[in-house]
Amino acid sequence: GSTIGMLGNGQLGRMTALAAANLGYRTHAYGPDGDSPCAQVASVETRAAFDDWTALEAFARSVDVVTLEWENIPTATIDFLAARVPTFPGSGVLAVAQDRLEEKRFANSLGIGTAPFRAVTDVASLRAAVAELGTPSILKSTRMGYDGKGQVRLNADTDLAAAWRALGTTDAVLEGFVPFACEVSVIVARRADGVMAAFPVVENRHAKGILDETLVPAAVTPAVAAEAGRIAQALTEALDVVGLLAVEMFVTAEGRVLVNEVAPRPHNSGHWTMDFCVTSQFEQLVRAVCGLPFGATDILAPCMMKNLIGDDVDQWHALLAEPGAHLHLYGKAEARPGRKMGHVNRPR
Ligand code: ATP
Ligand code: MG
Ligand code: MG
Repeated sequence: GSTIGMLGNGQLGRMTALAAANLGYRTHAYGPDGDSPCAQVASVETRAAFDDWTALEAFARSVDVVTLEWENIPTATIDFLAARVPTFPGSGVLAVAQDRLEEKRFANSLGIGTAPFRAVTDVASLRAAVAELGTPSILKSTRMGYDGKGQVRLNADTDLAAAWRALGTTDAVLEGFVPFACEVSVIVARRADGVMAAFPVVENRHAKGILDETLVPAAVTPAVAAEAGRIAQALTEALDVVGLLAVEMFVTAEGRVLVNEVAPRPHNSGHWTMDFCVTSQFEQLVRAVCGLPFGATDILAPCMMKNLIGDDVDQWHALLAEPGAHLHLYGKAEARPGRKMGHVNRPR
């Protein structure tokens, strides 16, 4: 049997390892998380640093292919591994996905729309950007944000100097607020030979900056669904992704589809596929990086995914008692506020 190397050792790595095991693969995870969700299902190096070249050399020798569950792996780490073992996706995809400015510029270069944006590097450029884009708008650090962290919402009466200090970075982007009718996402799988398989478009609802629910299928017109799928596949191909690309999009009241951000890995909005799709996103990732035939992406039944954040996980007994509900817990020891502890998929 072959071994898949997983960079990052969180819940996305755990669920990929479970899918890999179903196809007879072992998984060896390498990442910083001490309380690792991968520990129950894979061999795992916890508290592993992405610049520990000796440890990475040994990791490369112990696996047959490398993939990742976190897009912020340093590109130098990916290049180091790629010189030793097939590593998917490559560093070029990550360079774009790690930087919100590069991401939007890349989409725009393909003729794909985004929120209007300006690069911001100090209070003066913030004032100039707000003068051009107006309020409401959202100031985001270009790198490292997730679950709405590293963002400040700006209104007409916001003190811009205070907002800039609160963000605490010198690399930021101001985005005009998109008054979206709904948010959707599409996950595309692509192999090294260029063959792609897209999952259906789904609708995402956020609460406090964190994904709360995914509704499947998205309640959008066939034209919007087709456009979202076209955009996701165009980005996947242009970025030369091998593995998965999740594309988060806004849909306006007029039916325009704008790209918000991309993630070249399994995505929270694809967790429904574990129980309500012919093939799960995690198995599709394994198939993509191992050069195997893709599985079908048909929806088995209309469904929804609900995240269990922090104390939500205390309901797990009641969820188990609910007919038709599929519970997935990540095996994390501590239920801190805002921490993703598990999710439930149910028919609707
Ligand atoms: P993730 O956890 O998905 O990586 P993130 O921290 O990278 O999230 P974004 O996806 O940029 O953050 O923003 C989080 C949410 O905030 C979006 O899903 C959307 O609901 C809202 N949002 C972000 N940017 C805009 C915008 N320009 N206009 C309107 N709403 C926005
Ligand atoms: Mg993000
Ligand atoms: Mg997002």
